[in-house]
Parts: sequence; C-alpha cells; structure tokens
Amino acid sequence: MYTKAKTFFNAEHLQHHSKANYFAPAYKKAALAVVVSASLVAFISLFTSLLTAVTFVLGFVSMYTLYETTHARFHRKEPIAKPFIILRKHHFYHHFHNPKMNHGLTTRFWDRVFGTFKRVEQVNVPMQMSMQWLLEDDEIKDAYAKHFRFSNR
Ligand SMILES: [Zn+2]
Ligand SMILES: [Zn+2]
Repeated sequence: MYTKAKTFFNAEHLQHHSKANYFAPAYKKAALAVVVSASLVAFISLFTSLLTAVTFVLGFVSMYTLYETTHARFHRKEPIAKPFIILRKHHFYHHFHNPKMNHGLTTRFWDRVFGTFKRVEQVNVPMQMSMQWLLEDDEIKDAYAKHFRFSNR
C-alpha cells in the first residue's frame, strides 16, 4: 500500500507502521519543529503582526505536541479511562487493518467528513506488532479482550 517514502513525514510514518511501537526520535521532531515554526512565523507575519504570528505558532506547536503525546500513549500505556478505547480502536484499525481509513487520533469527526470512517468492533493485532501495554499484563489483556484480539500474521 505504502511503497515509497516521498517526504520526511512519509518516511517516518512508514516506519511507524512497519516497526512495532516506532516513533520518530525526539531530536528529529525538535529540528523539524524549529524549521516549520520559523517558516510559519515568517509567512503569517506577512499578513499580521509578529506577535500575533508567534502566538499562533506557539499554540499550533503546543496542540501538535499534545496530539503526538496522546498518540505515543495509545501505543505505550494502557488506557486511563474506558471511553478512550473507542479512539484507540479507531487508530489501531488504521494500523492493522487499513491504513487508508481512520486517520483521526483525537477525534473521529474528520474521518466521517472525508468518508474514511470505519466503525470498529474488534481489532486484530498481529502479535509481533502489538502495543506494549497489551502484552505486559494478562489482566489488561483479558480486560480488553473484546476490543483487541491477537492474530498470527
Ligand atoms: Zn500509531
Ligand atoms: Zn498511518
């Protein structure tokens, strides 16, 4: 499905799919954040004050950091509260069933808007690609058995 990585984002995204629990290293993300932020500030300040541009970009970077922290948590730590399992199933369906569907992480709203929404009852998790938290503890594995089951592909 994904055969060739064209950009940095695409390359990192591919690795995130192909290696269990892989995330781009923090230094790469930080370097990219600096480049993207500086470019955005330069561009936005063409239309408004520098202060407004910096404030906007700080907000943008903060939200993205929160988003990516949430994403890492989905892979690495068990859910804090049951309702979040819906979003996790949504995301792991994207990983293990169809990478062209369920792109949303913190909301399923945009997938509904763009027609890439798939309602998920249960996710088949390939054992060697499994999230760490699902393997660590049999009690957790049992508690979430109706949402995630292991497959041997
Ligand atoms: Zn992921
Ligand atoms: Zn993906």
